[in-house]
Amino acid sequence: MQTEADYTIIGGGIVGLSVAHGLLSRGHSVICIDGTDADFRASRGNFGLVWVQGKGFSAPHYAAWSQRAVREYPKFVAGLTDETGIKISLQQTGGYEYFTDTESLKSRVKQFETLKKALGGDYPYEILSAEDIRKAEPMVGGDAVGASYYPHDGHVNPLQLLKALAESCQKKGLSHYLGERLSDVRHSGNAFSLTTEKGLTVSSEKVVLCAGLGAKVLGPMFGFKGLVRPQRGQVLVTEKLPPVLNRPSVTIRQVNEGAIQIGDSKEEVGFNDQETQSQMARIASNAIKVMPKLGQLRLVRSWGALRVMSPDGLPIYQESKQMPGAFLVTCHSGITLAATHSHNLSRWLVGAKDAPDLSGFSEDRFND
Ligand SMILES: Cc1cc2nc3c(=O)[nH]c(=O)nc-3n(C[C@H](O)[C@H](O)[C@H](O)COP(=O)(O)OP(=O)(O)OC[C@H]3O[C@@H](n4cnc5c(N)ncnc54)[C@H](O)[C@@H]3O)c2cc1C
Repeated sequence: MQTEADYTIIGGGIVGLSVAHGLLSRGHSVICIDGTDADFRASRGNFGLVWVQGKGFSAPHYAAWSQRAVREYPKFVAGLTDETGIKISLQQTGGYEYFTDTESLKSRVKQFETLKKALGGDYPYEILSAEDIRKAEPMVGGDAVGASYYPHDGHVNPLQLLKALAESCQKKGLSHYLGERLSDVRHSGNAFSLTTEKGLTVSSEKVVLCAGLGAKVLGPMFGFKGLVRPQRGQVLVTEKLPPVLNRPSVTIRQVNEGAIQIGDSKEEVGFNDQETQSQMARIASNAIKVMPKLGQLRLVRSWGALRVMSPDGLPIYQESKQMPGAFLVTCHSGITLAATHSHNLSRWLVGAKDAPDLSGFSEDRFND
């Protein structure tokens, strides 16, 4: 494996590998240094949604960025599957958010309408009545008073996506160092020299920091603010069933192997990814309110994992002012944004003429 390349990517989660995929596809040489299982790894504990609705109500540029990402998803996944033979199980025929009180549903419609206006009308959501949603999803009943629907929402098998990306990057020539944690950075002229805890040294002209929560400590080493924080989510998994759900919702989905996954917690508990009985009971009880039959199923598994959150929940895409050539890339929807990170963010990283304008995601928005 090479120790010199055009780009070094720190972190081989979904964000790092999506970026690596884009850079390699553009003909650049790339090294990826990825840490160990002792690190928090959101890419291995997430819910697998490819999702637009509910995002960017006060930041239309983020809603537009998510829309662009999901529109590019089918081609992105088809390319990965063609190249690797790995089935990623993308289902993108729309998704729901269920509501159990009419006031919340009404205020959601107001938010959708405001956003739709800000996006020039391009926000093709629908609202389903209690009767419509029961027809569309026979499992729904109980307290559900209706649902919102967005046609490009969907879900994937996120672990298969990660595997396919890793394999595709390897085929394209990625030098992938696993179990190596970055500990020292030197920058002179226009070259970076990066050393890991185990003593591996690699060098490159550019560096992309995609270390998830690791950016809290690593960010300041490159002149970034290190503003990411953990937010815990817990996920429950039932026994496997034949297909009973036609589409995913933001908190309940049937995965390709048949189990139903349920998850809706957003907990500010620091660097703690343990499951708790109280949250698991709350998550199950909320799900049963809209799908009473879930109460008859056995839970077989659960886990907790930490989201990578910026102060306002939007991605941060920033080139370092102190060390030009070093970039920070972090977001809390790395599955949703995978396609656009590969295809569009990589154009920004290489300074292409047709790169998207990402200034709205700069770290400067957090200046005092
Ligand atoms: C419960 C939950 C549900 C979610 N659901 C969804 C969803 O439905 N849809 C969606 O789009 N997103 C979802 N997300 C968010 C998504 O999982 C994350 O946005 C994404 O995984 C972040 O990827 P990442 O590569 O930035 O971080 P990570 O996956 O955390 O990867 C960071 C990598 O950096 C490495 N690293 C850290 N420090 C160092 C170091 N010093 N040196 C070298 N390497 C280092 C780590 O080893 C790790 O491999 C969810 C997250 C959670 C927790």
